[in-house]
Amino acid sequence: MSEAFAFTSSRDASVRVGFSAALLQGLAPDGGLYVPAGWPQLSPGDFTDAATIAEVAQPLLAPFLAGDRLAGELAALAHEAFAFPAPLVPLQADGHLSVLELFHGPTAAFKDFGARFLAACFTRLRGADPRTLTILVATSGDTGGAVAAAFHLRPGIEVAVLFPRGLVSPTQERQLTCWGDNVRSLAVRGTFDDCQRLVKEAFLDPELRARGALSSANSINLGRLLPQAVYYAATSLAVWRAHGEPASFVIPSGNLGNSLACLWARQAGLPIGAVLLAHNANRAVPDYLASGEWRPRPSLATLASAMDVGNPSNMERLRSLYPGLEQLRAAVSAVSIGDGEIRERIRAGYRTYGQIWCPHTATAAEAWERLPAAQRARGRWVLVSTAHPAKFREIVEPLIGRSVPVPESLARLFARPSRCVEIDPTLAALRAALEAQGGSWTS
Ligand SMILES: *Cc1c(COP(=O)(O)O)cnc(C)c1O
Repeated sequence: MSEAFAFTSSRDASVRVGFSAALLQGLAPDGGLYVPAGWPQLSPGDFTDAATIAEVAQPLLAPFLAGDRLAGELAALAHEAFAFPAPLVPLQADGHLSVLELFHGPTAAFKDFGARFLAACFTRLRGADPRTLTILVATSGDTGGAVAAAFHLRPGIEVAVLFPRGLVSPTQERQLTCWGDNVRSLAVRGTFDDCQRLVKEAFLDPELRARGALSSANSINLGRLLPQAVYYAATSLAVWRAHGEPASFVIPSGNLGNSLACLWARQAGLPIGAVLLAHNANRAVPDYLASGEWRPRPSLATLASAMDVGNPSNMERLRSLYPGLEQLRAAVSAVSIGDGEIRERIRAGYRTYGQIWCPHTATAAEAWERLPAAQRARGRWVLVSTAHPAKFREIVEPLIGRSVPVPESLARLFARPSRCVEIDPTLAALRAALEAQGGSWTS
């Protein structure tokens, strides 16, 4: 039996819990975020015979789950969660630039990887508990759809997705309201901040707690972040096998969950070179790297809306990994891309490569274009594509002058009837909505 692996709080290194406990708690007791207490030292030789994402997941995640009650389930978790591909599509014949497509899951964005892994874990952790587990998610767009899809029809689990009524795009709203069954979609008459506040209040409410177990599937949950390291490991191994060189990644970033997963994979020994964070006009992270002064701010609305984050919560994990500014600067770089440049890059991507990019992916492509030519020519660069362009048709189609083909998974989802309940932004209204039995849906 190997020694148990521990996760610790980004605020207090004396906190030590296993993977399952970190996942069920969400936040550490001191309000910090869970981070690995140490790092396995893996090398490409540890991944012989592992090619698919599910196969790579096992050698990569096994050290992090050592001694945990889910350790024996890892193979099953990986095969269940990672049942779709993440193809690496070359853009240049010389192999120096490729796109990693992370949008082949049920809701056509990378959040499917983490949400599905978390759902597979929760299903096993609740075991034979007869009480219903209620998962609350506040969402301003993409997260809610991925979480709803991942938990839909799971026995013993109910999901309530809270979103601000009228403040998400029509395409996003359809993904939040097309589920039914064990998923309740609650359109809150308020803002995203109201939705987040209601979730926090629900956790403190004795009446709701008495009704059954409550948990959250927030993006800061370790059970969503850690599994994202798997596609970085798999991609870097593929590049290593093909070229004998590390892969460098350009990552569209908002709350920094996706980029942390890449940095964690590198820290665990995978052959990963440079990591470049592509932010939209929300420039707190690029400004911090430039000035050394951390100035979080209210978020700005941009075309790459899933990255509209003014105060990224995972900054705390980034700084716990690289406590000194010079250390951080050596580890990552970051740029900010405006809406005009995003538009221009969507046009150019179609013109130059025949690629149709969502606004987030275009942000990464633009960040790569700005690198010095010598750096671009030397590296094995991978642009991370975080969403399918069909999710952002309203933006993309006028720019490229054609319609965007809708993948089958999204088409199926769009064809489902839309159901949601409108509620006032109060705890009493949330309580009533959670207690209402089926049949209360409005169309
Ligand atoms: C969530 C999301 C992002 C940002 O990812 P973070 O982990 O928050 O940095 C980028 N693109 C898309 C399409 C997303 O849904």
